[in-house]
Amino acid sequence: MAKPTKPATGEMPSPRNDHVTGGALPKPKRASGLADDIEAEINSSRRAVGEVIGSEPELILRFGVSRAVFREAVRLLEQREVAFMRRGPGGGLVVTAPQESVVRRAAATLLRFENVQLKELVEARIDIELACLTLTVQRLDESGIAHLRELVEHEATLIRSRGSTSELRNFHVELASLSNNRPLWLFVSILTDLQGEFSPPDIGSLQSESRRLAPADAAASHSAHAAIVEAVVSGDLAVAIHRMRRHLAAVSDFSHEYVHTGGSHVS
Ligand SMILES: [Zn+2]
Repeated sequence: MAKPTKPATGEMPSPRNDHVTGGALPKPKRASGLADDIEAEINSSRRAVGEVIGSEPELILRFGVSRAVFREAVRLLEQREVAFMRRGPGGGLVVTAPQESVVRRAAATLLRFENVQLKELVEARIDIELACLTLTVQRLDESGIAHLRELVEHEATLIRSRGSTSELRNFHVELASLSNNRPLWLFVSILTDLQGEFSPPDIGSLQSESRRLAPADAAASHSAHAAIVEAVVSGDLAVAIHRMRRHLAAVSDFSHEYVHTGGSHVS
């Protein structure tokens, strides 16, 4: 890649943001370089959510960019959920917290666009969820045990009352969160959300009864969850893995059947 030329303004930008101010670069590239720099600065200085990094004039001066480039960089930072511009007195570029739901949705959009297949999701889920399960069994403490027991109890109430069953998928995300490995937890969240699109809708949904998740299947999922928790709590990793594999295979079977009877907009 060609080295950007230095600006002819006499300002001496730091080497770190040199590429941002390079006049030879097209505006979108300069804006994305500036957004990268601001994001890196927020991360390295561990700035708190809500903290004002600076006003628009201050930041334009500091980074030596045009207003147009700066505003485009702000748009990118807002899109990335890194920072947003607060107008008015006391305003400026404010650090924001990325929302998990937005990140999950964006990943799902990409995989859907890539025409991800159920088979791939199932493959990924087995590998990732078994890795999570191993860590969860190793790291489980008293509060984790209490949390798992509450989850199972909550599911039992839902099944008894024939309430919303979409929460059954939440079991996998909660179990993953107890692995104390955030990347694994995020992957499980994304894959679980996506597999939901390949699965029969909730008992509580408006779809006709034949298209909805059968109460017997919901009850079977709940029993499988309870059995997995039992093995996890007793520290029996081999049994926990065996039960999780069997459960994911069963979930995959009814997703497969649902997709192949035309129930899903994805194939
Ligand atoms: Zn499940």
